[in-house]
Amino acid sequence: TVKQEEQTLVEKDRQNVWHHISPYMEKSPPMIWAKGEGAWVTDHEGNRYLDGMSGLWCVNVGYGREELAKAAYDQMKELCYVPMTQGHEPAIELAEKLNEWLDDDYQIFYSNSGSDANEVAFKIARQYHQQNGEGSRYKFISRYRAYHGGSMGALAATGQALRKYKYEPLAPGFLHTAPPDNYRRPKGMSVEEYNIMRAEEIEQKIIWEQEETIAGVIMEPLITGGGILIPDPVYVQKVQEICDKHGVLLIIDEVICGFGRTGKKFGHQNFGIKPDIVTMAKGLTSAYLPLSVTAVRKDIYEKFKDSAENSHFRHVNTFGGNPAACAVALKNLEIIEREGLVEQADRHGERLRKELAHLADHPHVGDVRGIGFLLGIEMVEDKETREPASAARVGKIIADCKANGLIVGKNGDTVAGYNNIITLSPPLSCTDEDVDFIISVVKKAFEENK
Ligand code: PLP
Repeated sequence: TVKQEEQTLVEKDRQNVWHHISPYMEKSPPMIWAKGEGAWVTDHEGNRYLDGMSGLWCVNVGYGREELAKAAYDQMKELCYVPMTQGHEPAIELAEKLNEWLDDDYQIFYSNSGSDANEVAFKIARQYHQQNGEGSRYKFISRYRAYHGGSMGALAATGQALRKYKYEPLAPGFLHTAPPDNYRRPKGMSVEEYNIMRAEEIEQKIIWEQEETIAGVIMEPLITGGGILIPDPVYVQKVQEICDKHGVLLIIDEVICGFGRTGKKFGHQNFGIKPDIVTMAKGLTSAYLPLSVTAVRKDIYEKFKDSAENSHFRHVNTFGGNPAACAVALKNLEIIEREGLVEQADRHGERLRKELAHLADHPHVGDVRGIGFLLGIEMVEDKETREPASAARVGKIIADCKANGLIVGKNGDTVAGYNNIITLSPPLSCTDEDVDFIISVVKKAFEENK
């Protein structure tokens, strides 16, 4: 029977597939996804869910776009592969388009994943300093609670100990400071004062470690996976100022924040800064195919022209800049522009924040915060002490949302005790009815769990 076949699929999955960040003894059966359309996905049993996380914060234009499938098909038929030691038209056009989106002049290096893009940024930064006569600059400063990827360098940059400690030692030379967490700032301190203090901690680190050893600072415009920590603009601007003052490169990780998520083309555009290096992945192709980019400011790139010895950036990867992936990215950006999805992210997000603001009155909600189409609901045991909500309390909300057809995320940092933030990062292409649905399911889940 159909039912038996379905069970077999789950069994086969259990027997053969090792799932990402999942325990060996998974209690509930994995959800086997079968189809996606718009903001909705259907599992192998025919249950439909609105995907409030766009997969892993990546399917920005939603599922089932024939145009994207066709762009990949046409390109694969024409020319399926080019090593990126050479060139091809989709890669050239995409680089031009990304510069238009960045509103500046960067050199575009292609890879496959967000982790790759960050590794490339670290290597370029180190080589740049060497060729600039400052070979002692090798360290990078990142923030606790940040996630920058799973490879040995990107994981070293990551500031979540639970993801790291079983794989250490990772790449050496990665240091961390605390990010601004405005909800948990010291009592009596204004948001601005607190954000300046947090930025100055980065400067302190640079000074204490000796400026001549620091290659770069890497940060997301706002921490996403670590629990939607949105800084005051003064923080981001001050970090840029500090980097400039100390000759440190500012690497902005736009892997999640890019491509409309925050209501701007790139997250850093909310804060009026000009990064030295920008890394991107996920929403670049809306995850229809793997592709990532490390965009490098022209004057850094120019350091690679000085002499024959210095002209090589000795990094290659087989799949980076795959022609079909580039063609899909171009079509994806065209869709985002044509459908006004950057502006729509802002409009949808504003509604979400307005309609869910009252959750702040819920006995177990400490804070509701968001930017663009990105929302975090921080759950607490006690509003006075701000003790983070228990895993069971957070898990119940997630389970109730899912039972009512909505997938939401859970983020924060387990070691720090803050794995208590319910997150929403839905496809930017959601319809108004989809947004109504999200609001009603989330409201109901909190109302029923007071
Ligand atoms: N940077 C950020 C901010 C991310 O959220 C992620 C992945 O979630 C990465 C980098 C790593 O990207 P990938 O999983 O494509 O390697």
